[in-house]
Amino acid sequence: MGIWNKIDGDRLELGGPVNEAGPSGWSLTRRPDGIAWLVLDAPGLSTNRIDAAMLTALNDILAGLEADPPRGLVLRSGKRSGFMVGADIAQFRAVSDAALMATELAKLHAVFDRLEALTFPTVAVVHGHTLGGGLEISLACRYRIALSSAQLGFPEVQLGLHPGLGGVGRSIRLVGPSQALPLMLTGRTLRAPQARRMGLVDAVVEERHVAAAVRAAIDGKLQRRPLKGLDRALGSGLGRSIFADLLKVQTAKKARPEHYPAPYALIDLWQKHGGDFKALKAEEIGSFSRLLVTPQAQNLVRLFFLREGLKGWAKGGGAIERLHVVGAGAMGGDIAAWCAYSGLTVTLADISPKALGGAMKRAAKLFDRRHLKGKLLREAADRLIPDPKGEGAAGADLVIEAAPEKLELKQKIFAGLEAVMKPGAILASNTSSLRLEDLRATLARPERLVGVHFFNPVAQMQLVEVVRHDQADPAALAAAGAFVNRVSRLPARVNSAPGFLVNRALMPYVLEAMVMADEGLPLEAIDEAAERFGMPMGPIELADQVGLDICLDVAEILSLGLKTPLPAVPDWLTVKVKDGALGRKTDKGLYAYRKGKPVKRPVAKPLDDRAVDRLILPMLNACVACLREDVVADEETIDGAMVFGTGFAPFRGGPMRYARERGVAEVVAALQGLEASCGPRFAPDEGWKALSP
Ligand code: NAD
Repeated sequence: MGIWNKIDGDRLELGGPVNEAGPSGWSLTRRPDGIAWLVLDAPGLSTNRIDAAMLTALNDILAGLEADPPRGLVLRSGKRSGFMVGADIAQFRAVSDAALMATELAKLHAVFDRLEALTFPTVAVVHGHTLGGGLEISLACRYRIALSSAQLGFPEVQLGLHPGLGGVGRSIRLVGPSQALPLMLTGRTLRAPQARRMGLVDAVVEERHVAAAVRAAIDGKLQRRPLKGLDRALGSGLGRSIFADLLKVQTAKKARPEHYPAPYALIDLWQKHGGDFKALKAEEIGSFSRLLVTPQAQNLVRLFFLREGLKGWAKGGGAIERLHVVGAGAMGGDIAAWCAYSGLTVTLADISPKALGGAMKRAAKLFDRRHLKGKLLREAADRLIPDPKGEGAAGADLVIEAAPEKLELKQKIFAGLEAVMKPGAILASNTSSLRLEDLRATLARPERLVGVHFFNPVAQMQLVEVVRHDQADPAALAAAGAFVNRVSRLPARVNSAPGFLVNRALMPYVLEAMVMADEGLPLEAIDEAAERFGMPMGPIELADQVGLDICLDVAEILSLGLKTPLPAVPDWLTVKVKDGALGRKTDKGLYAYRKGKPVKRPVAKPLDDRAVDRLILPMLNACVACLREDVVADEETIDGAMVFGTGFAPFRGGPMRYARERGVAEVVAALQGLEASCGPRFAPDEGWKALSP
């Protein structure tokens, strides 16, 4: 027995003696005051998580405690990273047998039930990540004490699931359906004080007060707040039925049941069984297991790994601390603000003092939206330095150019930058459509040029395309990728080609919508067709949001650079742009705008599935062309980039996954059908032939 050192790797000091852990990671220590401390420090993992082996070991420990009961039991994590999270998500991959899953889950439930049934007081002391199954195991204890670092939540809904280890019933019983259901339906994370206000934890304390708080809990001195009157009313069948309908209406505003069944399954589960805790717990097993085998959940589980894949290639690349951004317009200003928010020191240059002033104002708004206050706000603001003379370029590790999309202008800017930049510094362009091969032509050191293509709005779009040309230094690319990771964006590796991946795939979607509008189809019906497929926003609204001027520019550049024909740009689009109707930013575009929102009429007659294909299949076709031309290395990068860069129906797992699920032959046949009826722009790309069926 010994006291752990203060900072011993990932271990946490627990303020008292703790036995060494057994092979399962559990250690049980009975202290002289009669309280047993059960600590988990899963071997070889940075975070504790729930799995069958650790629960089997826990089951044995619980049997010992039943035979020789302590005065109370404390459940803690020995890891600095946090208390515990749920199952290893890898275990959810490729699960196809719901009945088998239910049998396995029932065994895990039995351990949770055993913990809950102990006759002496049990206290979970939680810190850091206390998510999913980790929160669920704490709910099987009689009390929960949180350190202020605790973050608690049920993220399962993001994987197309709901809690599956008794958390549905236990959270509802503890804090009432009016609070527990929205928590599970949104997947949001609570900070410790919020969890305390909700009643999910009984106390929030500092580490030095944990032992006293534990004693207070075990002595029955912690006050638990009673359920609200509303929650008591929701105990009746009628109350549940009314509230369930209300929740479904609210949920439907965000997600359709055919796209995201999990929230609806959760509401149904509670509506049917909410009056009977045991039945609710038992039925949760079947509901969770049925959800897990749905294509939607499997695709969302896969997305988790696609995200990891995008991050993974650039882990550990060179360290970028000082950033210089040239151009404080829509993109440069927001990139600079985002990077300062993310902890980098950023100098921001522009020839226009007005643009610089505007960028600084937008940065202040970003910091406010992100709830930066006091010292954190001052520090972020200090990190963003307006630099009208461009002096920061000399000290920067990375320079991002975000000047207007004109080759000669960018080359002139590069010449000035090259003269002052540090030898090892990287030069990046945020160009959307210019060829890196042209941009590099006048550089003395072309190898340090890379593309880092952020999307608009920078603070919301997770993806950044990191663009390689054939003379780029691999170390510069890796450092650019690591920089993107560092500012919490996802770097997708693409090769230099017109429109890279995302714009190239998105443009046919947007332009086809314009052709359909030209044919007289209502704008709202076109958008509805895409949303019915699962796109977060229809193509017409998207065009307005991106800006019709930008759409026009990208369309022109793509039509020049690509062999595959694009839908012709309608004349009226050019006229609109000339007239200054540029979309949302001018409050006038394809839609009219009121208070920044498009004015849409209800859709009288939804378009048929062929119309959906007209919009979606050209996107798939462009993705396959990118694969064939080696713009991207693999289908996973395409799917990750399209979901995180365009919002492509996440529950479908990305365009390539969708093509695979629907069947390559079937997609090719549908494209051929459209080619016959609508024209050669639908001709299936040669690349489909190379895709294994
Ligand atoms: P913008 O016109 O809003 O901003 C460009 C800024 O550069 C202006 O403030 C201008 O004053 C400044 N500038 C001009 N010449 C300069 C010089 N010599 N030195 C310093 N600053 C100078 O343009 P934007 O929309 O921010 O686009 C910038 C780049 O980002 C372009 O390459 C564009 O293709 C790309 N991009 C744009 C979007 C988008 O949605 N707007 C998305 C992705 C990428």
